[in-house]
Amino acid sequence: MSYDSSVEAPRPILHIDLDAFFASVEILDNPSLRGKPVVVGGDSDRGVVASASYEARRFGVKSATPTVLAKRLCPDLIIIPGHFDRYEEVSAEFHAIVLDETPVVESLGLDEVFCDLSSLWRVSPDPVAVARRIRQRVRDEMQLECGVGVARNKLFAKLASRDAKPKIDHGRLVPAAGVVLVDDEMERHWLDTLPVRALWGVGPATESKLAAIGITQIHHVARMDEKILASHLGAAQAQMLCSFARGVDTRPVENDRATKSIGHEETFAVSVAARDELARHLQRHAAVVARALRGSQVAAGTITIKVRFDDGKSISRSRTVGVALDDEVAISALALDLLQSVPDGPAVRLAGVTASHLCAATGEGQMSFDFAAEGVMAVAEEEQRRRSALRSALDDIRGRFGRSAVGTGIEMTGGELDVSRQRGSHAFGPTGETN
Ligand SMILES: [Mg+2]
Repeated sequence: MSYDSSVEAPRPILHIDLDAFFASVEILDNPSLRGKPVVVGGDSDRGVVASASYEARRFGVKSATPTVLAKRLCPDLIIIPGHFDRYEEVSAEFHAIVLDETPVVESLGLDEVFCDLSSLWRVSPDPVAVARRIRQRVRDEMQLECGVGVARNKLFAKLASRDAKPKIDHGRLVPAAGVVLVDDEMERHWLDTLPVRALWGVGPATESKLAAIGITQIHHVARMDEKILASHLGAAQAQMLCSFARGVDTRPVENDRATKSIGHEETFAVSVAARDELARHLQRHAAVVARALRGSQVAAGTITIKVRFDDGKSISRSRTVGVALDDEVAISALALDLLQSVPDGPAVRLAGVTASHLCAATGEGQMSFDFAAEGVMAVAEEEQRRRSALRSALDDIRGRFGRSAVGTGIEMTGGELDVSRQRGSHAFGPTGETN
């Protein structure tokens, strides 16, 4: 890949996008759907398709197609209302794989991420090799497919991942390239030939505004005076589009590790009635959260527990402490203390622990006087010190041999690592297409 470093710093960026995500998860969970035209979407008169299998796409059905029209295009269409809890679960697995391979990751919805590999300069990996490895792991570990674009900026990486996917050509499925590395020639070709809606930030509204002034192609924008464009779109959007049309995109990959919170929760197969059993679950969640905090090199100032009863009522309890915590002993102690303030109710269907007010970890694990004086856990400080050596050894082993290689007493009671990262609001990319 060659970079024009006069305009922007070269950054090997990946854009990874799971293929036909919702539909693929449905097929994964119900193999009898394989090879059939399947969509996830609303089946009402005003319903639209959220995600379409490639078999459905052969009939011209795609995301945002009104369901009524989709049924006309494909009379045998199988319409599934969707299982969003399940998609979130699968999304967490996807993110876990990506985070395992690359440190700087920005999520865009459930099935799409950007990764910036420049932080790996010490090991200077081949970006294509990283892309291939992630793709292979998604196939092997999740039985799902994804397209990966490799480019010098977000704009081209996103266009490339689209190019990496299977395509429908005259009703026929063209197999996926899987990984597409963008070179100068492709950049030029795309900028010369793609419609303006291929650019980030050009949704249907902007597209029709641009069409009204005769702009339908990216190269039209490139030749347009930015001031004139600004009079139609506003200065900010005009500037962004003019940059993109020249292939310049300086947007950084916004690392999710500047995360707002890290949490772990579980919906129980059988609701939990006994308090001590509930306490054990919270301890386990606390341990997973602690490990995720350390894995992200952050520590938390606030711990929250959430309990949802069988009658659907949820209760959250939070405590903000004067120190940054990343230790299972301290976080468990806080969680159990918070549990004391949850009134008795029906059996519990879901319980979770979330850490928030995150800051960069110092590695000191200090406990403040305030916190100690609260008497939440007098032994926590000593315990934390005593455990830190063991803990980093465990994390190290897990890092090298996988998370199930070794557990502590708390974590051995069951449950997979399923860490949800709550993110700030995101632009969800160009509107219209969820591939
Ligand atoms: Mg997708």
